[in-house]
Amino acid sequence: MRNYTQFYIDGRWTAPITPATAEVINPATEGVSGTISLGSAADVDLAVAAARRAFTSWSQSTVAERLDLLRSIQAEYTARMQELGEAVTEEMGAPLALGTGFHVGLGAGHLQTAIEVLENFKFEERKGPTLLLKEPIGVCGLITPWNWPLNQVTVKVFPALATGCTSVLKPPQLAPYSAQILAEIMDKAGVPAGVFNMVQGQGSVIGAALSRHPDVDMISFTGSEPVGVQITKDAADTVKRVGLELGGKSAWVILDDADMAANVTAATSGMMVNAGQTCSAGSRLLVPNARMAEALAAAKAAAQAVSVGNPLGEVAMGPVVSKGQWNVVQDYIRKGLDEGADLVAGGAGRPEGLDKGWYCKPTVFRATNDMVIAREEIFGSVLVIIGYDSVDHAVAIANDSPFGLGGYVSGQDRDTAIAIARRMRTGAIWVNGGFDFHAPFGGYKRSGNGREWGEHGFAEYLEVKSIIG
Ligand code: NAD
Repeated sequence: MRNYTQFYIDGRWTAPITPATAEVINPATEGVSGTISLGSAADVDLAVAAARRAFTSWSQSTVAERLDLLRSIQAEYTARMQELGEAVTEEMGAPLALGTGFHVGLGAGHLQTAIEVLENFKFEERKGPTLLLKEPIGVCGLITPWNWPLNQVTVKVFPALATGCTSVLKPPQLAPYSAQILAEIMDKAGVPAGVFNMVQGQGSVIGAALSRHPDVDMISFTGSEPVGVQITKDAADTVKRVGLELGGKSAWVILDDADMAANVTAATSGMMVNAGQTCSAGSRLLVPNARMAEALAAAKAAAQAVSVGNPLGEVAMGPVVSKGQWNVVQDYIRKGLDEGADLVAGGAGRPEGLDKGWYCKPTVFRATNDMVIAREEIFGSVLVIIGYDSVDHAVAIANDSPFGLGGYVSGQDRDTAIAIARRMRTGAIWVNGGFDFHAPFGGYKRSGNGREWGEHGFAEYLEVKSIIG
């Protein structure tokens, strides 16, 4: 049992002003795995005041000082990677190999990337008669979701720190453990008092208090669209910058010249990673109608090959994060059946033999793009396959979405694939795979307005000043 009842404020472990706790549920067992404290607006006031005081000196720190600190954090982070991965598995149900592997690896990658970007970043440049300065924006409220909990915390905390900002982190209530350990890492690494603070609790309390706070200069939010909208409204009265990283319904276009079976298999098993709880997942798979039969057969086989079970075992897919999320996924599967989509694999209910824990079946539908299951983000292990007649048709379907976060194109002819990627209205597109910590990540349309990762992630935390003459 974990007991994380203190917040990290002004360089000290601090009990909430008004004591309140909540149980954290392990989604694999439905049992209580620990408790956290729930903060109040008064705790946020303390944390923001500490961050404001610390900003005076931290904003004036040198690049060398900030690099030294990031390297100290890196040493502590590296020493606790196994523990961090185990915490992720316990809090949100990712298979242990994924928790200790990619989840923790993403955090390590963002940390290393922040170091690399900071080593080369130009905080000053001359443009004609003007001296352009990039200065830290101030006190940042960082609000994060539960699905890739370490990824989302680290992609905010380290760029904020590296640019000379101070921050107050509000981790997700459903998955609070890895953030708590990260706060311990920051403390051990010697982050100066007030530069980084963390308050746990409910979004509607802690998140809202940060968004409305007159002394917070910027909010970086990753999460759902409705909450992003609410935060924007809450932040409006104090005219603060709001960076939004929201949901997606990303299209994966497989071209006619591609190895259909191999790509459909990769897309289907890719969809099931993290139990489908990935904002940029390729949840709409677009295949040529002429090759639909081949695609459906491959998708069925791939979905059925996904092993589901206790994340401490050797499985490909654990549970979804909570009972609430399980119900959401089940509702969408029922909606898909009701609106006449063809069920290719999986379906409603738990997989056979799993009576406890929030496990879903790896599910594949053949659908049309006007169906609810093709338009709304399900955030679970449900893939929708849609047929297209021509490349123009594929692009039109891909772009016919309220979202624009990720995208994928698979095809032998690289130029054709890139030409299609250029026409897709979405923030990041993977052409035949690949991975880059320096590539900006963020959405078009309802997927948000921010860009994180690499150099663009620094820009979120910087003001631009012109000194002319
Ligand atoms: P959520 O919006 O419910 O919660 C996200 C965070 O916001 C949590 O910490 C929550 O406590 C807090 N919050 C809730 N209400 C709030 C309020 N009124 N004011 C301020 N903060 C509040 O999202 P979730 O269910 O945790 O995460 C899933 C969503 O996140 C999905 O839509 C997914 O696509 C999205 N997401 C996007 C990205 C991206 O980079 N674009 C990455 C991961 C997840």
